Amino acid sequence: MIPAPFTYKRASSVDEALDLAAQAGEDGKFLAGGHSLMPLMKLRLAVPETLIDIGRLSELSYVREDDGHVVVGALTTHDELARSDLLGSELPLLAHAAGQVGDPQVRHCGTIGGSLAHADPAADLPAVALALRATFRTRGPSGSREIAAGDFFLGLFETALLPGELLTEIRIPRPPSAGWSFQKFTKRGIDWAIVGVAVQGANVALVNMGATPVRAAAVEGALASGMGPSQAAAHAADGTSPPDDLNGPRAYREHLARVLVRRALEESAARA
Ligand code: FAD
Repeated sequence: MIPAPFTYKRASSVDEALDLAAQAGEDGKFLAGGHSLMPLMKLRLAVPETLIDIGRLSELSYVREDDGHVVVGALTTHDELARSDLLGSELPLLAHAAGQVGDPQVRHCGTIGGSLAHADPAADLPAVALALRATFRTRGPSGSREIAAGDFFLGLFETALLPGELLTEIRIPRPPSAGWSFQKFTKRGIDWAIVGVAVQGANVALVNMGATPVRAAAVEGALASGMGPSQAAAHAADGTSPPDDLNGPRAYREHLARVLVRRALEESAARA
């Protein structure tokens, strides 16, 4: 439970963080809220030689409007998302889901950028980002770029971020439909989702139904063809590959997905 030795550097600006990351090379890692990285380091599943602490970069902590989008700084904590008036009125799906992450301590330390960059398929916000058709703005050694959420999650704990590339901002277009729902099935309130569902209008994304957060493409297709919530939800597990672990066998998760997607579509329709 004690991490391997590492060098600690604290960045006081985005530019400095990028410089430090470039110096550290492939053995460096950004440290944001530390609530995913530190547990991995204590288990020695992650052994970075250099930690670049970006946790005090207040310039990356904000929620505001920009050019028809709601934009969120990568260092914004889950608690700040949950309490944001702008998100509450414009993107209640994100505010509500952030309020379901872990417990108060996790929500006060953990950041949206850390959650997305960590790319745990059991995490809540990656699936929410898919349902909201978010785009991620990054800065790295080769400059800035924008990556669609659908192109960002490549595999288990694997993203399109390059070594030394910093996720700086999440950009979310105003959703065409007001209907939304977030369903999270857990054994205890503070647990990770055994299965979760994020719905925004006709966009449906699943938590913990594969190696990455996934869009429920078969459900979206069924809705587009005119099926109602019950019929469409019957396709929730189509094309997914959920884990088979101590929290539940694969067939149990497939069943949960169908039940939760139906509930989510019904709740979303009632809110639209
Ligand atoms: P860190 O742990 O600091 O970093 C995680 C990874 O992302 C590291 O590899 C780091 O290098 C990288 N990184 C961080 N920020 C950036 C950036 N801006 N650019 C590029 N790379 C970056 N999550 C849920 O979704 N649902 C839950 O129910 C839940 N429950 C939890 C319960 C507990 C007890 C704990 C400890 C965590 C839980 N989490 C849960 C995870 C929590 O949301 C984490 O805070 C989050 O996943 C990671 O955010 P962080 O800021 O702590 O990132």
